[in-house]
Amino acid sequence: MSPHASTDREKPVIVWFRDDLRLADHPALHDAIDSGRPVIAVYVLDEETGGVRPLGGAARWWLHGALAALRAQLNDMGGTLLTFAGPAPETLDRLADISGAGALYCHYRYQKEARDQDSAVFDRLAGRRVEIVQRHGTLLRAPDAVRTKTGTPYRVFGAYWKAAVKLGPPPRPLAAPGRIRFWSSPTHWPKTMRPLDEDALLPRKPNWAGGLEADWTPGEAAGREILRDFVTHALAHYDTGRNEMAAEGSSRLSPYLRFGHVSPRQVWDAVSHIKGTDAEVFRGEIGWREFAWNTLYHAPDLPHRNLKPRFDIMRWRRDEGDVRAWQQGRTGIPIVDAGMRQLWETGWMHNRARMITASLLVKHLLIDWRVGEAWFWDTLVDADPANNAVNWQWVAGTGIEATPFFRVFSPLRQCERFDPDGDYMRRWVPELAKLTGKEIPAPWTLSQQSLRQAGVTLGKTYPEPIVDLDGGRQRALDALKATARTR
Ligand code: FAD
Repeated sequence: MSPHASTDREKPVIVWFRDDLRLADHPALHDAIDSGRPVIAVYVLDEETGGVRPLGGAARWWLHGALAALRAQLNDMGGTLLTFAGPAPETLDRLADISGAGALYCHYRYQKEARDQDSAVFDRLAGRRVEIVQRHGTLLRAPDAVRTKTGTPYRVFGAYWKAAVKLGPPPRPLAAPGRIRFWSSPTHWPKTMRPLDEDALLPRKPNWAGGLEADWTPGEAAGREILRDFVTHALAHYDTGRNEMAAEGSSRLSPYLRFGHVSPRQVWDAVSHIKGTDAEVFRGEIGWREFAWNTLYHAPDLPHRNLKPRFDIMRWRRDEGDVRAWQQGRTGIPIVDAGMRQLWETGWMHNRARMITASLLVKHLLIDWRVGEAWFWDTLVDADPANNAVNWQWVAGTGIEATPFFRVFSPLRQCERFDPDGDYMRRWVPELAKLTGKEIPAPWTLSQQSLRQAGVTLGKTYPEPIVDLDGGRQRALDALKATARTR
């Protein structure tokens, strides 16, 4: 039955917000409003149904701000955002019961655990004859829309992106709604409904989120402003600027895309008219996000399993001390420590630093990529199930379209190319600030006199390196060879 049937006209409709915490270009919300019926806006934090991975600490902090921002927007329009905790099927079933809702609108999700959760909700609501209306709203193209001629998913980014671009531009983004007719929600809920304790999303003892607060403002308005600023100021130098670690050369849109404050169609629309390499490369990065989600859709185990089974027998090292030093930015290798401290302090890390720090963990330290993936998951404000796993497997050489394992990033060469004056290292590792651009990448190679002049005592004011870079590289290559022998 259609949700527009006349007998149902006054039955409210539920709009179930998930990783799409915005009002503009929200096809599910748009169509719910179009139905002419009162709208119930709801968010449910369900970490129980369908095995969805709990959010990490930094993402929880972000979610707190994101929900507050969306609620404020809805308040301004005369409504509110309801937030509940607990199993989504029961929670939404009760909400439908209490409100007499006739339909539930939401976007498609592409992660297996999330889809399982959705199915459990839809099954439950079917018993109440609540119509389910799903729309595509979180990617430029649904994963099924881009396939090879034989119908299989693409396994190489270049070919995938070429085929995706050939489909033509994605639909234009939808404008923000001018008006929403809201369902008037009760002031008291029955005990069976568990309101989300939003303040519990914030860290308390200790409150490690000071740096995040200083750097970020979650929400749609901030996301739109960042997009506008980026297109006006940084896009023209993006191709080189995005790699310069001390510069603000990339968009920093990742958490806004992750939580859906900004939609990929809005990003596309903002740059679609711009010609030249910089815009082309930037559109390609949006393409990488699409490709990552495409990959996760077809390989749901991606965050847990090597996509190349050959690596299942890899003898990873277990060394708690090394892992802790890496997490804390105390490896004694300044470029790595700079990246890891930026991550801890701000919940975000420069893309090049992500590659360098991940490579050191997996190759030089020979630690399983899943250990690093889990740390990033907990500490990144943009921690994304697809982007994080695809990129970790890319660096580790265990994924599709990955760098081969034997190609080991040299942290020192990376400094020469992408932080030649040492400004990025100096900013995040201030105890080395008096070293010159040439000296700072490898303090262990300096004379006692140079170190003394810069106020550095290795092992005291700054750690000795926890791994010899040449030795670590060789150990990684030997471990790779061993997997080939045992096959
Ligand atoms: P920009 O350069 O401005 O790019 C614009 C957008 O394109 C990004 O916001 C992002 O949505 C997308 N994008 C850019 N690079 C990539 C990429 N390599 N793969 C997929 N999408 C990309 N990105 C995340 O969003 N979440 C993660 O959890 C995540 N984990 C990563 C882990 C590792 C080990 C590595 C090497 C990379 C990871 N990335 C992740 C990808 C990339 O580092 C970030 O998307 C980027 O640094 C975000 O900064 P930006 O928004 O300024 O990017």
